[in-house]
Amino acid sequence: MSAYHVANASGLIKLDAMENPYTWPDDVRASWLETLKTCELNRYPDPEAKLLTQTIRQRNNIPPAFDVLLGNGSDELIQILLMALPPTARVMSTQPSFVMYQQISQSLGLSFINIPLLPGSFELDLPTMLGAIADHQPAIIFLAYPNNPTGNLFSAEAINKIIAAANGLVVIDEAYAPFADASYMGELARHENLLVMRTVSKLGLAGLRLGYLVGAPAILEQLNKIRLPYNINILTQVTARFALTHHALFDEQTQLICAERTRVYEHLCNMPGITAYPSAANFILFKTPKDKATDIFAAIRQRGVLIKNLSPQGGLLIDCLRVTIGKPEENRAFIAALKSCLD
Ligand code: PMP
Repeated sequence: MSAYHVANASGLIKLDAMENPYTWPDDVRASWLETLKTCELNRYPDPEAKLLTQTIRQRNNIPPAFDVLLGNGSDELIQILLMALPPTARVMSTQPSFVMYQQISQSLGLSFINIPLLPGSFELDLPTMLGAIADHQPAIIFLAYPNNPTGNLFSAEAINKIIAAANGLVVIDEAYAPFADASYMGELARHENLLVMRTVSKLGLAGLRLGYLVGAPAILEQLNKIRLPYNINILTQVTARFALTHHALFDEQTQLICAERTRVYEHLCNMPGITAYPSAANFILFKTPKDKATDIFAAIRQRGVLIKNLSPQGGLLIDCLRVTIGKPEENRAFIAALKSCLD
């Protein structure tokens, strides 16, 4: 195994990690700092983060029939889910998808089954998935919706068939929900084995490290036995409550990002040799001319912009790069850098 690699972005325009590029206006920042004065750092935080959980419930209209489990980022929730499995359990996801499903499974010695997406559309290969579910009986299936790094929303019909066929849990990872017009939150009541996972990272709070998992109390009660008692620190609890009550700011920033996503996508579509894939998230995957991705990635970085080179992952990602949507001027710098590499 190799450790999860985070590139050094110092001095570069950072378009590699699906962060929100916008900070807070001075008045909001000042009132947040006022709120922090209530934190007593000598005491442990509320182990159940009750007030924050309440705020999350309200913001997402989560019905009382379902529980909410908080994690130190959704990364920690993935780890908790996987630690709950017996050593013989199998875990399934798509190839490509978010790498931590496989990384954490491997680190825990669990068998991991990757089912390739369909080339071109990056849609679920339903017959192969249903066959693999019957053969391997995975204890957990992770589906990122929209998917990272492809950016698409899988067909709801295919997802529903997978949930119906699965004996184990299906986790719909909605990390990019703020940028997509679709969610499985409203489907929880229909499927006992469905869990929906979200994060505040992509919304604009990546530094806080807060994710949440929503589902049936009987399942979350078991997962909660593995969670470390004070996994959500007091600064995160207080700041996230503050931020989620100032959600209009994030809604506005999300709209700016989505408008920019359209603009960047159109630019990419008009570039000779580039194939851009439609995205319902805050990033765009694109294919470069054959065997050129690594050189183009390096040349763009040379011009001061850091994006993500996915080509080394192989499979459907060969020749592919991924750019996160930034501020208009950052996106312009990226487009100009890419254009100059193709000339
Ligand atoms: N799920 C998906 C699909 C992601 O792309 C990411 C981050 N890249 C995460 C989960 C993890 O998010 P975090 O730990 O910041 O909540």
